[in-house]
Amino acid sequence: ISKAEKTGTTPAETEMTRPDAQPTASHFIDGAYVEDTGGDAIPVIYPATGETVATVHAATPAVVERALASAVRAQVEWAAMAPVARGRILRRAADLIRARNRELSVLETLDTGKPLQETLVADAMSGADALEYFGGLAADVTGATMQFGGDWAYTIRKPLGVCVGIGAWNYPTQIACWKAAPALATGNAMVFKPSETTPLCALKVAEILHEAGLPAGLFNVVQGRGPVGAALTTDARVAKVSLTGSVPTGRKVAAAAAGAMKHVTMELGGKSPILIFEDADMDDAVSGAINGNFYSSGQVCSNGTRVFVHESIAADFLARLTERVATATLGDPLDEAVNFGPMTTEAQLDIVLGHIARARAEGATVAAGGSRLDRPGFWIGPTILTDLTDDMACVREEIFGPVMSVLTFRDEAEALARANATDFGLSAGVFTRDLARAHRIAAALEAGTIWINQYNLTPAGMPFGGSKASGIGRENARMAMDHFTEAQTIYVGMGPVDSAY
Ligand code: NAD
Repeated sequence: ISKAEKTGTTPAETEMTRPDAQPTASHFIDGAYVEDTGGDAIPVIYPATGETVATVHAATPAVVERALASAVRAQVEWAAMAPVARGRILRRAADLIRARNRELSVLETLDTGKPLQETLVADAMSGADALEYFGGLAADVTGATMQFGGDWAYTIRKPLGVCVGIGAWNYPTQIACWKAAPALATGNAMVFKPSETTPLCALKVAEILHEAGLPAGLFNVVQGRGPVGAALTTDARVAKVSLTGSVPTGRKVAAAAAGAMKHVTMELGGKSPILIFEDADMDDAVSGAINGNFYSSGQVCSNGTRVFVHESIAADFLARLTERVATATLGDPLDEAVNFGPMTTEAQLDIVLGHIARARAEGATVAAGGSRLDRPGFWIGPTILTDLTDDMACVREEIFGPVMSVLTFRDEAEALARANATDFGLSAGVFTRDLARAHRIAAALEAGTIWINQYNLTPAGMPFGGSKASGIGRENARMAMDHFTEAQTIYVGMGPVDSAY
C-alpha cells in the first residue's frame, strides 16, 4: 500500500496488495453466474493507476432474453409470497452485506477509484440500509377504504411485474441496492444493468441476495453499454425502468419507455446551489462546500457546485476553503489514510479538464487545482474557480468532477433568483443561523432535497430525487413503494343496482 500524500505532491512508489477483481462471470441470471464471450469485451480499469483489473462481456441478445425470461417466470411466485417473508430475505441480505462490508468496499474502490475511507461508510452500508428499510416495509403495503352510500370501496397495491434498473458509475453498489430493495419488497423482479464503467459491484449484490434466500430469477444482472440498456427498456415484458444517469440519457430512456407507457423513475444530473449567508457558521459552511464538491472526487449528482457566498464574507470563506483543500490527502485509494481519489474514467477527466480550460478562456480564475496531476491514472486535484459570472458554461453545466464555482451575492432575493435560474433541480444547501430565513429559502428553492446547515446526507427513510430536468419520481422512503406498485380500486356493491330503464 502506498503512503498517502498531500495534494499535488509527486507520487511515492506504489506497492499495492490488491484482491483479484475478476468476477466469476460477466452476468448473474436465474441464481447463477453466466458467461457469453460473444459480447464485446469491456475492460474494468482501476482509475488510480489505469491498469485493467478485470474484463467482462456485454450481454448478447441471447443473454438479455435469458435474463428477462427468468425474471418473468420468477416474479409470479414472488408476488404471491407473504410480504413478511419477502422482507425477511431482504433484511438477511442487509446483514450479509454489513458482514462483508470491507470486501465489498474494496471492490467498490477498485471499480470506481473512490477512497476506501469513503466506500467503507457510504456505499455497501447505504445499500444495506435500503435493504433493511424496505425489508421492514414489505409487510406494510396497505390501501384505502371508503364508504360510498351503502356500497364501499377499497384499494389494493399490485406489483408492476418485471422492472429494469440502469445504473450510473459513481455509486454502483448503492444504486443497485436502492433500486432492488423497493422493487423486490413490493413483489417485482428486477433486471439490472450496471454502468459499463463499473460492472463489478452489482454482481456481488446479486450473489448476496441469492445467498440470503432470494429465489432465482428475481434479481438478474446483465452487463453492457447503452444498446443493452435500450434493449431492456423497449422490451414489451418490462413494466418499469428506473434509471440513474445523465439528463441526455434520461431523455432517451423516458422517450423509449413512453411508447408502451411504461413507468419510469429518473435520477438524473444536477448543478445544485449552496447559499452561504453572512451569519453562517464559517467552519460548517466550508465543510459543507467541501463535502458537496470534493467527496467522491466530485462525482456526485447532488453536489452543490454553485457556491453563492455573501459578499461580506467571501474573502474569508475563500481563504479558509483554499487552506483546508490544500490538506486533502491523495494516494492509493485503497490506503485508508487517503481521502481524495482519481476520476473514475479518463474520458470523464478529459471532460472536466475541458470545462476548466473553457472557464479560463472565459476569464475565470483558478484558485486551486485545475490541471491533470503527473501520475498514472486519472487524477486532478480539488479545483476552485472564482471571478465567475452566471452565464459561464462552468456555472451552468454539470461538470461531474471536483470543480467548485464560487460566486458572490448581495441579498437574499438575488441569491434565491440566481440559485433557481437553472434547468436542473436536484438539490440545494443553505448555511445560515437565521432559522426563519433558512426555512423560507428552503421552501422557495426549486429542488428535490434541501440541506440546511448540512450537505449530501441521504438516509433510506427520506425521499431522494430531482425536480425540473433532474428527474421524475423519488427513490427511498415509503413513496418508493408506491413507485414500484400500481393501485387497483375495487367497488363493492351491497344493494340493488340502480338503473334508468
Ligand atoms: P450516463 O447517462 O452516461 O449512463 C447511465 C446509464 O445509462 C449507463 O448504465 C449507460 O450504459 C446507460 N445508457 C446509456 N444510453 C442508454 C440508452 N439509450 N438506453 C438505456 N440505457 C442507456 O450517466 P453516467 O455518466 O454513467 O453517470 C453520470 C450521470 O449520472 C451524471 O449526470 C450524474 O449527475 C447522474 N447521477 C444521478 C444520480 C441521481 O440519483 N440523481 C446519481 C448518480 C449519478
